[in-house]
Amino acid sequence: MGLFDRFKTPKWKHKDSNIRLKAIDDLNDQEILIEMAKNDSDINVRRKAIIKITDETELYEIATNDKDTIVRRKAVDNITDETILVKIVMNNKDIGTRRKAVRNIKDESILAKIVKKNNYPIDIRTDALNKISDENILSDIAKKSDSEKIINNAINKISDENILSEIIENTTNPKSRLEVAKKINDENILIDLSRNCSDNNIRRNAIKFVQDKNILNEIAKNDSDMDVRMTAINKINEKLNLSDIKNVDEVKNLNDETILIYISKNHPNALIRAQAASEISDSEILEYLAKNDDSVTVRLMAVDNPNFKNRTIKNNINKRKKVFEKIDDIIYHVNISIKEIELDRAYGDISKEVAERDLKREYDYIDGLIEQKKSYFSDPISYKKCHRCGGKIPVKSAYCEHCEYKL
Ligand SMILES: [Zn+2]
Repeated sequence: MGLFDRFKTPKWKHKDSNIRLKAIDDLNDQEILIEMAKNDSDINVRRKAIIKITDETELYEIATNDKDTIVRRKAVDNITDETILVKIVMNNKDIGTRRKAVRNIKDESILAKIVKKNNYPIDIRTDALNKISDENILSDIAKKSDSEKIINNAINKISDENILSEIIENTTNPKSRLEVAKKINDENILIDLSRNCSDNNIRRNAIKFVQDKNILNEIAKNDSDMDVRMTAINKINEKLNLSDIKNVDEVKNLNDETILIYISKNHPNALIRAQAASEISDSEILEYLAKNDDSVTVRLMAVDNPNFKNRTIKNNINKRKKVFEKIDDIIYHVNISIKEIELDRAYGDISKEVAERDLKREYDYIDGLIEQKKSYFSDPISYKKCHRCGGKIPVKSAYCEHCEYKL
């Protein structure tokens, strides 16, 4: 330093900000650098000075107080003390600064705490989650998080299928449960889920991948949920060719409950379904058939089966046996009338238009009568009033059983 230099203003205090900026290159004095980073009026000078600061408490102050976002965020770059980083994540006003702090944290248990803060912005929580790789920590997050996005992100990062199956039993979010289940390929875990999972959907889903016949049979007999039993039954019989069963007598020789149920639900011929329905013992499936089969014959067979349990439906049917006979009788006569209309049309006794109108009317009547019969298999039945006699009849009635009126 020359004799007169000491009276000169140092470069870092120079009026020209470009000279101050250049001066930083040669500066190592932390006090001066801190002074510049905190108080220089020029943003570029503050931005450059900050890079050379090592005191993390000072950096924390700058990250908290500087007016410029880039300065605040740059201050975080050099902070490694995770206690200070957590303080920034907790208190900083700028979300970008908070996110930078998260990205500098390495301790996964600290990151997990940030992920679990449900009052934090989702971006901050996601940044923290992205840095976690310990599958036990991820599992804990998947089980306890309040956010579906967080749960699904956590799940996607887990590959250990034992950990995944454990999440299924312990997460409170049913949608995520299904997401987890889809990631599982291990047959032993799938078998365990199909037998023991408390969620019906998961059990049903898992069964589709189980090959072991004994396990499928056990589920078909014992599962508490009918849809789950049905899925197992479908899986057991998926190779059975229904068109090989051509008549009712062939069904009589079958003793296997799962085959009988499969036929009762899936065979295209109603008489064959009805025969199968008369032989099965699962009362819930019998009720399902009684309520849902397209054919009234199958419905009646299901209700007649001694294993049919629903008393309300059974009483409905028994009380209506005479009405059914009457309806069958009407259907028989409407069918005769249909044949007559077709003959009249063939001989040209009536016009095509009249024939079509009359045929439509008769077919609609038959449809209405069939719907009316089906109504008695519901529990409870929805009623309406006959507009002629005021009697109570099922909503889907084409005929009044009290005044014998065609509605
Ligand atoms: Zn009436």
